[in-house]
Amino acid sequence: MNQWQENLRTVIPYVPGEQPKETGIIKLNTNENPYPPSPFVNEALKELDVSQLRKYPDPTVTKLITKLATTYDVEKENVFVGVGSDDVLATAFLTFFNSTKPILFPDITYSFYEVWANLYQIPYKKLALDETFRIKQEEYKKENGGIVIANPNAPTSIYEGLDVIEEIIKQNQSSIVILDEAYIDFGGESAISLTKQYENLLVVQTFSKSRSLAGLRIGYCIGSKQLIQAMNDVKYSINSYTINIPSIIAGEACLDDDCYFKETVRKIIETREFTKQELHKLGFQFPDSKTNFIFATHNGVCAAHLFDYLKQHGIYVRYFNQPRIQDYLRITIGTQQEMEQLLQTIKQYLKERITNENFNCGR
Ligand SMILES: *Cc1c(COP(=O)(O)O)cnc(C)c1O
Repeated sequence: MNQWQENLRTVIPYVPGEQPKETGIIKLNTNENPYPPSPFVNEALKELDVSQLRKYPDPTVTKLITKLATTYDVEKENVFVGVGSDDVLATAFLTFFNSTKPILFPDITYSFYEVWANLYQIPYKKLALDETFRIKQEEYKKENGGIVIANPNAPTSIYEGLDVIEEIIKQNQSSIVILDEAYIDFGGESAISLTKQYENLLVVQTFSKSRSLAGLRIGYCIGSKQLIQAMNDVKYSINSYTINIPSIIAGEACLDDDCYFKETVRKIIETREFTKQELHKLGFQFPDSKTNFIFATHNGVCAAHLFDYLKQHGIYVRYFNQPRIQDYLRITIGTQQEMEQLLQTIKQYLKERITNENFNCGR
């Protein structure tokens, strides 16, 4: 081993869902929105003056931040934006989780939390969700260097009421609580209102799911002025110009079209409820999703096997080969037509499988 190798910062990276190169795939594996972004975004990008790209973007991102502040009824000093909420979360971890005490998060959650903790050498403790994947709120009373919770949680799709969340924040006023609300628009109530009351709360959201802009990478968070100031100090110590000019322009246009936003979210929820009913009829079980995906299991089906079958039939879903969830598939809600196609393919699978005596999941 070379000496320089000893000093490498090694980390086991996060593995994002596949982005297939082929066309004609029904892509239900990364929780993207099946609908295009608002036509306002199209208009705004068409008007983009390419000659202006010689200049750096506004490092303070003031126009987009002001629009977000208006949208969520806070001051612009309460808002921070980043290159997707992954960037916002990574900056928040680096800024706020700087204690020798462990940070706390659920054992089944967004797997990036563990990656950042390892990358930044933050001690952590994973607290087990109960058998139905619910948070055991009492366990968050122990001493800690910070808390991060996704609500609704991924990949479980479960939303915990604000009473549970507020209790955790209240019990932990000497550490920072980061609440990842990537899926909040699909049926939950946001904790943004609680940021006025609790200066230790940071609520993180994204344009990637409910606003159909995963490809532009825009995320943001809302919290007390002290928290936002601290994050800005860290941001300006790494990269001052995070959000690029087209993203700023498109982000603003997207926020201007509240009507389109509400309508696409409504359609996705409608398709989700339809898919729940149909999956139920086919014998699947799943937590009651308040997200744009369903986390489903089936007593007579090997999840890994169904995953492969769907993939062979041009339908991508997500499978996590991890303890406690290896019998589940995470299925993103696509268009109504895509979900009907999925259900048809699953029916076909169930039929073929029943006639296959040699079927063995290895369980
Ligand atoms: C999708 C997702 C994110 C990251 O989204 P960005 O595209 O980086 O904004 C963050 N947290 C959870 C729980 C997610 O599912």
